[in-house]
Amino acid sequence: MGLLRRLAFAGYLLLLGSLVLAEPPAMPLLSSGDSLLVVSPHPDDETLCCGGYIHASVKAGVRAYVVWITSGDGYWRAAATRFKKLSPTAADYRRLGRLRMREARAAGNRLGLADGDLIFLGFPDGGIAHLFDLNYLRPYTSPYTGWSSVGYRASPVLGSPYTGMKLEAALASIIRRIKPALILIPAMEDEHPDHWGTAKFAMSAALEAGLGAAVCRWVVHGRYGWPFPMGYSPESSMGFPPVGGAHEWSRFVLAADDEEAKMEALLEYGSQVTVMRAFLTSFIRRDELFSCGSPDYLRSISRSEVSERRGSSW
Ligand SMILES: [Zn+2]
Repeated sequence: MGLLRRLAFAGYLLLLGSLVLAEPPAMPLLSSGDSLLVVSPHPDDETLCCGGYIHASVKAGVRAYVVWITSGDGYWRAAATRFKKLSPTAADYRRLGRLRMREARAAGNRLGLADGDLIFLGFPDGGIAHLFDLNYLRPYTSPYTGWSSVGYRASPVLGSPYTGMKLEAALASIIRRIKPALILIPAMEDEHPDHWGTAKFAMSAALEAGLGAAVCRWVVHGRYGWPFPMGYSPESSMGFPPVGGAHEWSRFVLAADDEEAKMEALLEYGSQVTVMRAFLTSFIRRDELFSCGSPDYLRSISRSEVSERRGSSW
């Protein structure tokens, strides 16, 4: 091996070592009486990313809320499995949405949340990235449910057209009402278009609400089969997601009862666990990762990037 290649290899090992060995700082809890808001693209993300942190926060006297952007009503595999049909109908997808909201309520209760602190906006699963540009003003139609406006009675914005402007306004109004000291949102680098779409809308709604809440980010779809090792491994630590290289991660270590509550919450999602158990249980770990650094990297993304990323397979 030539000198240059040996030096490059040594550098690679050093870098790898620093990635493995660097111990991220601890993620603090809020103070008793403060409010926490978790913004979740689909029913189950709040548990995967933050279930332990939510449970620990509630124990510490924090008032915690979850807002779900979509009801997960566009997931073909879950609908096909649940209703035993290769081509689920619009009515099936709406039933799936209602089922997933019931599951989310049960999961939230496991994490210590009251029904009144669980908010379902009911925007279109699979459509959040579209609401940025083409459908910021013109309503989007879900190819799954057939709806162009919120159709779930559980939503505080029932009848609201599926536009980016309405979603942003609904989120800003929730933030103004709850006045959270901390908002947990997806990272822009999360691969799922509904996730990075949610990040963008949550950031702009937080700015519009103008309360200066702290914002921390999490990743669920981190690329290359992350989290490693895939599958249930409750003694393992969560490794850094490959997509989150630019982030400075903080680690929240779960107490035994936090991890137990997180598992119980996850198991409430029967419609999801049935179709992707290994992936979902990969998030039952001894810790959770959050990035709470400067939001500078949340630059505006260009229209071409939106189109390109919207083409992703999720
Ligand atoms: Zn999701």
